[in-house]
Amino acid sequence: MHFDVLVVGAGISGIGAGYHLQARCPGKTYAILEARERLGGTWDLFKYPGIRSDSDMYTLGFSFRPWTEPQAIADGPAILKYLRETAEAYGIDRKIRYGRKVVRASWSSEAALWTVDVTTSDGRSEQWTCSFLQMCSGYYDYDAGYMPGWPGMERFKGRIVHPQAWPKDFDYAGARVVVIGSGATAVTLVPAMTDTAAHVTMLQRSPTYVVARPAIDPIANWLHRRLPETVAHGLARWKNILLQMYFYRIARRQPERAKQGIIRMAQAELGPEVDVRHFTPRYFPWDQRLCLVPDGDLFKAIRDGRADVVTDEIDSFSETGVRLRSGADLTADVIVTATGLKMKPAGGIAVTVDGAAVDFGKTMNYKGVMYSDIPNFGSTFGYTNASWTLKADLTAEYLCRLINFMDRRGYAAATPRNTDPETVPDATPPLNSGYFQRGADIMPKQGSKAPWKLYQNYARDLMSLRFGRVDDGTVVFTPRAEVSRKSA
Ligand SMILES: Cc1cc2nc3c(=O)[nH]c(=O)nc-3n(C[C@H](O)[C@H](O)[C@H](O)COP(=O)(O)OP(=O)(O)OC[C@H]3O[C@@H](n4cnc5c(N)ncnc54)[C@H](O)[C@@H]3O)c2cc1C
Repeated sequence: MHFDVLVVGAGISGIGAGYHLQARCPGKTYAILEARERLGGTWDLFKYPGIRSDSDMYTLGFSFRPWTEPQAIADGPAILKYLRETAEAYGIDRKIRYGRKVVRASWSSEAALWTVDVTTSDGRSEQWTCSFLQMCSGYYDYDAGYMPGWPGMERFKGRIVHPQAWPKDFDYAGARVVVIGSGATAVTLVPAMTDTAAHVTMLQRSPTYVVARPAIDPIANWLHRRLPETVAHGLARWKNILLQMYFYRIARRQPERAKQGIIRMAQAELGPEVDVRHFTPRYFPWDQRLCLVPDGDLFKAIRDGRADVVTDEIDSFSETGVRLRSGADLTADVIVTATGLKMKPAGGIAVTVDGAAVDFGKTMNYKGVMYSDIPNFGSTFGYTNASWTLKADLTAEYLCRLINFMDRRGYAAATPRNTDPETVPDATPPLNSGYFQRGADIMPKQGSKAPWKLYQNYARDLMSLRFGRVDDGTVVFTPRAEVSRKSA
């Protein structure tokens, strides 16, 4: 089966790509190949208690589909509902082919064509072809989360659970719970599990910046009461984009001041009884992602004594809990390993270009949307310092601009190529969080200079992806006539 564009993945990015392709390239055929049986990606996979966004829905939602719920920080089911309704409203759901895991993609320059090998959920093999392949497959392994492993785990008599594989109807009522981790998942789980658990301890090796934020955005709701939906959504979105850019800039320019400000706010939320050292990281704000907690729910749970934080390292597991390096023991009935994700570039598919295998760890990322020396191949990767969807929307717009440009000029292939000897791969990850460090070898690199450098800046990307020249001298185009001659 042939399509002009094949999109891999039906999460936020794939649904957004579908919308932009329909709206901006109406003459093109496309399909979305999704390994799972449902759309939504992350927001369908994760089922742990309290699962929610930590960015506001005016920016995590699409530019083209207003978020009209009163909560700006939404829970997982509400986000999934929004994604389902968006896919249905624009007929994108009819373009999704479920139960189709892409395992291999092979580019032929002679035919200017991708051949895509798929394994279906009932074990069949299928072959699809397309002119352009757009990866919207996220950034982590769906099969399992990251689990470092500790001595003696097998001895533990209670239950060990990873948030990525949360057991259905898991009852932890009355249990003493230890949550290992200090990232977004841990700070969500801890207050959520205090609903029925006897007590919840967050056990962290090192602290993270945690910032309380109102779950409701009064300005956005005020706009929604007075203005048409799309106008209100657009204004709320821009307000939040600009505020986020402003705070990020301040934090990077005056790191010590930002650090002290965040710690002061944490102390004010926690009250004088709680030691704020548990919320005083060794790094500066935005070296790693900040954790936002709606209405300070984590701080409140600690203040009320329903939860506490321990900063220490695990020595080993025992029958009844964990033994810490300090010599202390934590008793637990349930241990949740909120230890993160395993990075996985390009949905784990094996990519070849004219028979040569691509090692993504050796590629350079062009504008954060394509890769060096891989023709007609895009991928969607959101921001690390702002909502994912902001970059996903821009990426899809760029894909459509590129396709329309190639059509107008009669080009069959577009390949970013680095010909500037001064531009070299820069292995610095966008954040120094554990999962980026663990994935450093396998993930694509940014370059030392534009258009290969990633600025993590929406305004800059908007100018570059929406308005910048498509024919910028870095993307090399192959005329259609050349391809037809070769393949004839
Ligand atoms: C718990 C959690 C909370 C988060 N909270 C936020 C937040 O608040 N704000 C924010 O901006 N970001 C957040 N993120 C990041 C989040 O992943 C993005 O916001 C967004 O959901 C990513 O969407 P996506 O469509 O690009 O990828 P995903 O949601 O990961 O979807 C990828 C889809 O591709 C499919 N797929 C993968 N490989 C293949 C293959 N080989 N063949 C076929 N299909 C394939 C998967 O099955 C999946 O459906 C969070 C992430 C997690 C894990």
